[in-house]
Amino acid sequence: MTKRIGIIGGGAAGLFAACQLKRLGESQNAEVTIIEKNPISGKKLILTGHGRCNITNRKDAAVLKKGYHEAENFIYPALKEFGPEDTMEFFENELRLKLKEEENNRIFPVCDSAVRVRDTLVAYIADSTKTTGGTKVLEIKKNGFFEVVTDKGTFDFDYVILSCGGSSFTKTGSTGDSYKFARKHGHTVSPAKGALAPVKADAESVEFCKNLSGVSMNAGVSLYQEDKKTASFGGELLFAEFGLTGPAVMEISREIPLDAAEKKAYFELDLVPEMNDEEFDRELQKLIGEHADTKITTLLSRFVPASAAHEIAARAGAEEQYAQGFSKDMRKKICRGMKHLKIGIAKAPEIDKAYVTRGGVSLKEIDRKTMESKLVPSLYIIGEALDIDGISGGYNLQACMSEAYLAAKSILKADE
Ligand SMILES: Cc1cc2nc3c(=O)[nH]c(=O)nc-3n(C[C@H](O)[C@H](O)[C@H](O)COP(=O)(O)OP(=O)(O)OC[C@H]3O[C@@H](n4cnc5c(N)ncnc54)[C@H](O)[C@@H]3O)c2cc1C
Repeated sequence: MTKRIGIIGGGAAGLFAACQLKRLGESQNAEVTIIEKNPISGKKLILTGHGRCNITNRKDAAVLKKGYHEAENFIYPALKEFGPEDTMEFFENELRLKLKEEENNRIFPVCDSAVRVRDTLVAYIADSTKTTGGTKVLEIKKNGFFEVVTDKGTFDFDYVILSCGGSSFTKTGSTGDSYKFARKHGHTVSPAKGALAPVKADAESVEFCKNLSGVSMNAGVSLYQEDKKTASFGGELLFAEFGLTGPAVMEISREIPLDAAEKKAYFELDLVPEMNDEEFDRELQKLIGEHADTKITTLLSRFVPASAAHEIAARAGAEEQYAQGFSKDMRKKICRGMKHLKIGIAKAPEIDKAYVTRGGVSLKEIDRKTMESKLVPSLYIIGEALDIDGISGGYNLQACMSEAYLAAKSILKADE
């Protein structure tokens, strides 16, 4: 009997699912249809990796899983069954797209083109999958089989893979429809918030950030709520007109609470993470002693870019001060500015500017070995629709690929 399989959403997860169904199902009778509301599939995929597509991250599943925060145990079986090496083999041997490895095990296509990745996936499934672009799914009903109601008519399927994405970067088509459909079928959906997102500084700190707009540095970033440290992350940060961005800030952004302003959330930046407070104070004292005729801003620029040194000194009221006669009090203020720089957070990250969505369909209701819903047999949920968000570096696309593999395998095996 022919299996009628409907993939709702032709983003990364949906395209990967169609690829896996083709790969694994060659000897099977399956009719695969992707229903995508945009005229062309993969609108978000072509933005990935700054247009270069960071496909995966070459790490062992046991190490890789730690990049998925609270979802690490859920996703582990998927990563073990179809991990980065499998993804790479698929891209190189079946899609014939050469890959390269960059810093921190990040894998990119040699062509550096996310558009090419999308087009290659679309071409691969062209003979196995019917794609109905420009078709919006309005409702998914189940009466024995699935009736998928769209703005262009109704489709009947035996299996549905729900892959409509999360609710970040809405202009790409991910507008939270997965949540609506999953809820309708009894699933619990935790509130969506932005992850891997830039952060707006509050009124008190925004001027400081604006003055340093474009300056990047390696720093420790700690998040405080109600004066308690709740998270910390180290890496590159970038000052911007509106506040802060760059890898370290984007990674920690998922921890900012939705009620950031009420919780008086702020970042504490350590601009000299290679030294502890005492070491930095000792080093500064030494420099002050050795360079009496030098301005404090010049001495600070040994540790941070000159513009940052100037702003830190200005915050302490010492931008015109020379080392000679520099008081202990002043030195303490400078140490605080360099090691404990407070940047107030205006609000939780804007989901539309976030690279991924934190929150989504509860993992408790999904079988982690197949991605099938525990509430609705033959309904599979994959990709950003689920309450999984990974760190940056190819983790999110790898999650889509691993989950797509499990769903495809399970569907093709059903009733064998
Ligand atoms: C700027 C940017 C850069 C990124 N870079 C990387 C990277 O380099 N590496 C990495 O691992 N991750 C990266 N990510 C994250 C990654 O792109 C996502 O995790 C991934 O695209 C999620 O795939 P998905 O298929 O679940 O959702 P999506 O890609 O959002 O796809 C969902 C699809 O469903 C369609 N849809 C929605 N509702 C309906 C409906 N009602 N009817 C029909 N179709 C519907 C949408 O139009 C969309 O095409 C990046 C994200 C962004 C925004």
